[in-house]
Amino acid sequence: MRDQLKALFLHLMKYAGIFWLSRRLTRRELRILCYHNFSLRDEHRFRSRLYMRPETFKQRLDFLLRRQIPVLSLGDALAQVEAGTLPDNAVVITIDDGWYGTFANGIPALHERKMPATLYVTTWYQHKQVPVFDVALGYLFWASHANSVNLEAIDPSLTGVYDLIDPAEEEVALEQLREFAAKLEAPAQLDLLYRIGQVIDVDFEPLHQQRLFSLMTDDELREVAESGVELQLHTHRHRVYANDASAMQTEIEDNRAVLSPLASGELVHFCYPSGVYDTAMWPALRDSGVVSATTTEVGFCTSETPMLAIPRIVDGEEISMIEFEAELSGFLELVRRARGRSNPPVSVAQSKA
Ligand SMILES: [Zn+2]
Repeated sequence: MRDQLKALFLHLMKYAGIFWLSRRLTRRELRILCYHNFSLRDEHRFRSRLYMRPETFKQRLDFLLRRQIPVLSLGDALAQVEAGTLPDNAVVITIDDGWYGTFANGIPALHERKMPATLYVTTWYQHKQVPVFDVALGYLFWASHANSVNLEAIDPSLTGVYDLIDPAEEEVALEQLREFAAKLEAPAQLDLLYRIGQVIDVDFEPLHQQRLFSLMTDDELREVAESGVELQLHTHRHRVYANDASAMQTEIEDNRAVLSPLASGELVHFCYPSGVYDTAMWPALRDSGVVSATTTEVGFCTSETPMLAIPRIVDGEEISMIEFEAELSGFLELVRRARGRSNPPVSVAQSKA
């Protein structure tokens, strides 16, 4: 009901010309869209922020085409923001992580429409070529109909029987499994996923074969880079450090070492993993040669935006087409500013302090 009312309100605003007005008012500001992964089967029902149906993504891209909205590469757009030459209402498409679903269902949709994009690639799981444990684990539990789980049946060093009907208890079980897996090497993590599947009655084999939780191989990344999608930095282990500059730099160096032989351009653009960021990370990022860093804070980018804290618009399957349109028009951004919910712009000079 709330969603229906919201949609009705947005339609009214659109037909009253408010979207048009919002586009005029915010036309000099850059919209950076953020995507993660594209479903191979029903993953969008599992996490609608992480996965999008390929059909929904194509709808978004066709909307951009129909409206003749300029879609620029990240580097080009940021340079034009700085130079004050950005075309009106320009958009950049960014995709995080480098999932196989993006290779299979996201990149082809972009190519069909000749649209540029930036792919921020995290490389530990990519290099190991095993499923991303935490996401695969979450999916297994989501897909399971089991009422409880005995962790000891998964591994003798684990204990406790947890009621899976109770979300809080389920979370305790998941946390134990995540902590346990974090200490394992990649092949052991894969074995563990198979064992968890057996215990909670979900066959992991077809999910693994279909590469639902896998990142792209080197060959796939190379193909993507050669086709014009730029590869950029997202840390090696999908982890950042606010109070350890050397660990932060190691993350970038390890990430860059894997990506350098695959990428076509310079690796100088960065995306904070899981949107976690802190200004304390900025010196380490600068020392690592990072010139821009995007977050998952919502907002538009202007010449006032600190280049190491660039907000984006996180799109997902649960976002309706009218909401997407409201967001791109700038209407929702103007509402946030009016409510004081938008991050006040920090000047570049201040941010460099
Ligand atoms: Zn990520």
